[in-house]
Amino acid sequence: MVKQSKAHKVPFAKNYASEFLVFEKGEGVYLYDPTGKKYVDFGSGIAVNALGHGRSDLADIACSQMRKVIHTSNLFTSEPSVFLAEKLVALGDFDAVHFGNSGAEANEAAIKYSKLYSFNKKGAGNHKILALVSGFHGRTIGALSCTYNPAYKTPFEPLMPGVEFIPLNDVKALEATLDSTFAGVIVEVLQGEGGLQMMSREFAEALNRLCRKHDVILIADEVQTGLGRTGWPFASASVGLNPDIISLAKPLAGGLPLSATLIPAKINELIKVGDHGTTFGGGPVTCAVAGKVLDIILNPDFLANVRKQGEYLSKKLKTLAGKISFIGETRGTGLLQGIEIIQPENYKGDLIKSVISKCEDNGLIVLKSGKTIVRIAPPLIINEKQIDEGIAILEKTLESFGL
Ligand code: PMP
Repeated sequence: MVKQSKAHKVPFAKNYASEFLVFEKGEGVYLYDPTGKKYVDFGSGIAVNALGHGRSDLADIACSQMRKVIHTSNLFTSEPSVFLAEKLVALGDFDAVHFGNSGAEANEAAIKYSKLYSFNKKGAGNHKILALVSGFHGRTIGALSCTYNPAYKTPFEPLMPGVEFIPLNDVKALEATLDSTFAGVIVEVLQGEGGLQMMSREFAEALNRLCRKHDVILIADEVQTGLGRTGWPFASASVGLNPDIISLAKPLAGGLPLSATLIPAKINELIKVGDHGTTFGGGPVTCAVAGKVLDIILNPDFLANVRKQGEYLSKKLKTLAGKISFIGETRGTGLLQGIEIIQPENYKGDLIKSVISKCEDNGLIVLKSGKTIVRIAPPLIINEKQIDEGIAILEKTLESFGL
């Protein structure tokens, strides 16, 4: 059989592309397709592969755990799950964790816990959720209801009732909208899917203050920003946000599906057996791997290096923006950054789509955020030389448009 780099007409539901680049293996920040072509990975499987590809340390842990016990359900537990829960809870003022399998599930749990708290403390009817314009929280009905982009939602309406949106960093809108009829506010500190807009310190302070005042649960969706992506254990802390609940997922188990919803004592003490649950969440294999991932990522030297590489990347992107006429702003922080593509009026076609696909042709994987941002989210282990390598491909690709 001839090895091909692209898969066509795969019987996947049409909610994905019709043509896929196929990866056969990976090593560090590089991916390889079946023909042996090498790609610099500036995408990490949508900000997931934080420790890079081909990690035999993680594979050994997963294999060894699979030989012992793969799955217990949540009627029982295992040592790796207990250890991981203890580690995660110790990361802040948390009392417990609910494990799931995806970012959307982490947020579903967060939304349910905030409603459960409000129902117990304030009575029925105080169930509203406040979310932010351009926010993204997942595709399941609850998380989707809190996601802003109408294109993702319209065919599935009516969704969960009682969700309202205000613009990010609009303190006046927050003051005018939030009251005690809300159960929760769900926010991202850096909007990963919605265009890499960053929360201001002033807005974070207002969220802390007003959620406390109205006894509303503040949920930080750190599915994309949490565990090192911005150079900190949680991006919330870097802007002074003090959430009650933090949802985590993408990097948690180094590429295996695992999510965690961290909750405080004031919520945990109201939850009864059966209020929420999942079959697979927090199984022994994913938790064993996540234990190792956390040990590596949360090392202060590792985090300091993410911030250092982030600054280097930021400098490189600013230089690039100075050279290429159709780059607008540079956005983001740590190893979650991007460049704005401003499509010239005379350009026929979809420029950002062409940029991403030409990057692939030239051996670089990048992502999109919002409608106009090329998002860069490499494995957190990337070094300056590898950043240079990816940026050189990006520069060559952007220049090739001759605009
Ligand atoms: N929240 C945020 C901030 C995300 O970036 C994502 C995924 N991009 C999700 C939630 C949903 O995660 P998942 O696709 O694993 O359900």
